[in-house]
Order: sequence, then structure tokens, then C-alpha cells
Amino acid sequence: MFGFLKGLGVTLRQLPKKKVTLQYPDVRPEWPERFRGVHRFIPELCIVCNQCARVCPTSCISLSGTRDANKKMRIDTYDINFDICILCDLCTEVCPTEAVLMSDTFELATYSRDNLYLDMHWLYNNELAYEQRHPDRVPQTAGEAKEGEA
Ligand code: SF4
Ligand code: SF4
Repeated sequence: MFGFLKGLGVTLRQLPKKKVTLQYPDVRPEWPERFRGVHRFIPELCIVCNQCARVCPTSCISLSGTRDANKKMRIDTYDINFDICILCDLCTEVCPTEAVLMSDTFELATYSRDNLYLDMHWLYNNELAYEQRHPDRVPQTAGEAKEGEA
């Protein structure tokens, strides 16, 4: 009986307080800038150095590129298998041009694992959606963050 009253007391004390839960998905959370959701990718910034794929602890990045007429490497395919990605952020840390970045997209629930294998076009569309949601963070998406810090 004492335990019941004690629990009731805790509940009553919380009633007048401001609610901390959200009516998701109608009300969506505002994640902080350093939130580690699934990646976004900017193809024109990628120099096909392969560092992201080499550092990945789960080997879930696969990419390919070719040399163009000016002998510059251009990315052809860039895929991430989110079935095994652990969102550790190592790939974005190591990328010298900030072509691959984390986003605040986190809803990847699906009935098929095949749908978790996302290609360059999906990742680029995620970049565009991120820029629309956060226009104030756009310089961070154009490889300018490191220049700004210098
Ligand atoms: S976040 Fe980590 S596990 Fe996922 S692709 Fe990047 S390096 Fe690999
Ligand atoms: S995304 Fe970055 S680290 Fe990966 S291949 Fe392109 S430039 Fe290199």
C-alpha cells in the first residue's frame, strides 16, 4: 500500500509539468546539428579516394569511379548498405572533401533488407532534402566547413 501511494505521489507531481514527449510522427523532433542519422552524399565533391570505404569497420560502403577527359576522378557509383552500417561516423570524419556527411534522416524501417542498400541517387536526394530542411547549415554541405574553421 505504501509503495502504491508513493508511486501515485510521483505521478501527481509530474502532472503539472511541461510534457517532454512528442506526438510523433505528427510532431517531429528537431535533432541537433551533430545528430548521426543516415548519410547524405554530394557526388561533385567526391574525388574517389576510397578512404571512406577503407576506414569503414563493417565494409558497408562500395564505390567506383572513372577518370574524365581532364584526368580527374569522377564518382560513378556510391552505395551504402544500411543493414550493417553502425552510424559510427568514421567515413565522414576521414573524407577530405566532405562529400559524405551525416544527416538527421533516421526513418529506414522496412520489410525487406534489400531496401536498406541505398545508392548514390538516394544519398544525393537525402542531401537535397537536408539542405531544404536546414538552409542555415548549407555551407556545411558544400565542403566549406573545414575552410571556415581554418
Ligand atoms: S558510419 Fe561507420 S559503419 Fe556506417 S558507412 Fe560510415 S564508417 Fe561505415
Ligand atoms: S566520399 Fe570522400 S572519402 Fe569517400 S571516396 Fe569520396 S572523397 Fe574519398
